[in-house]
Amino acid sequence: MSTGMCSDSGEDLSERLIRIVGAESVRMNEPMSGHTSFRIGGPADLLVQPGSTDQLRAVLAVCRESGTDPFIMGNGSNLLVSDKGIRGVVIKLCENLGRMGMEGDLLVAEAGIRLSRVAKFAMDQGLTGLEFAAGIPGSLGGAVWMNAGAYGGEMKDTVVRTASLDRESGEMKVLEGTAAHAFNYRESIFMHTRDVLVRAWLRLKQGDPAVIRAEMERLLARRRESQPLDHPSAGSVFKRPAGHYTGRLVEECGLKGYAVGDAQVSGKHCGFIVNRGHATALEVKQLIRHVQQEVFRRFGVQLETEIRFAGEE
Ligand SMILES: Cc1cc2nc3c(=O)[nH]c(=O)nc-3n(C[C@H](O)[C@H](O)[C@H](O)COP(=O)(O)OP(=O)(O)OC[C@H]3O[C@@H](n4cnc5c(N)ncnc54)[C@H](O)[C@@H]3O)c2cc1C
Repeated sequence: MSTGMCSDSGEDLSERLIRIVGAESVRMNEPMSGHTSFRIGGPADLLVQPGSTDQLRAVLAVCRESGTDPFIMGNGSNLLVSDKGIRGVVIKLCENLGRMGMEGDLLVAEAGIRLSRVAKFAMDQGLTGLEFAAGIPGSLGGAVWMNAGAYGGEMKDTVVRTASLDRESGEMKVLEGTAAHAFNYRESIFMHTRDVLVRAWLRLKQGDPAVIRAEMERLLARRRESQPLDHPSAGSVFKRPAGHYTGRLVEECGLKGYAVGDAQVSGKHCGFIVNRGHATALEVKQLIRHVQQEVFRRFGVQLETEIRFAGEE
């Protein structure tokens, strides 16, 4: 396995990373299928899980010095990693970077924490506004990055400040106010700056915990009813095209249950592609292309993918 270049001191990249985060937080030749909700993806040369912002900054600096542009990931729930995997370094921001609390009337949490945990914490504090997020299986950072949303709510309704690291300079940037984040449908400024989100501050409203809990449970039940949660997937594969419902377009093309190998258009929700066993990234991509072609041929609608692609082709 190649772990990249050596430094002037002759130290291997993996050794330098281990010195920063500890051996238990660096994995070599790590199958990405174990880190994605699709359960698909070849090996990453090096997968690093920093436990603090300082560690993350140091990891970014080592990557920079060795000429490696790292791939940043959260919980891997919106990702399709190629079958060949990812060359170089993957930085996974997970519960290692998952502290959370209140700062005045703002909820503040680190990027790696699960969004569902943030929603539950808000409920316990009697704060309303994150009920929509309880069933989204990503990290807080991943959710802010793509302005995740469901059932009429979006991250942009709550995010009032973020802290992120510039991956080139290592400088910490603080964005104040919702407008500064250039949120749009499944979009934020971070997709364009490539800065690594490390923390977010959310403004929520006082509410009745019992009412908040009931609403969360109602939305979670709706998910269970309408989504194929018993199979690995990455959620909705496509963005919602203006004026249409993706699932309906796909179903009307007769593609419900259509499969390429083990990648299948879900029979429960045609906007999802599920892995029914041993699907490869190539099969998923072929299926995506087929669905896009059929929907375009029949309705003239160009489906854009919402999931993100990573890895060597
Ligand atoms: C069953 C299921 C249901 C889902 N339902 C919904 C839903 O209702 N609404 C919805 O919007 N999504 C939904 N999703 C998709 C997914 O959960 C969200 O997109 C989530 O926000 C992704 O977060 P993540 O941490 O898993 O990101 P990842 O998949 O790990 O990464 C996604 C992208 O974000 C970038 N990224 C992640 N963290 C950071 C960071 N800290 N700094 C910079 N870049 C970062 C990565 O580079 C990558 O490009 C669903 C997925 C599944 C499997």
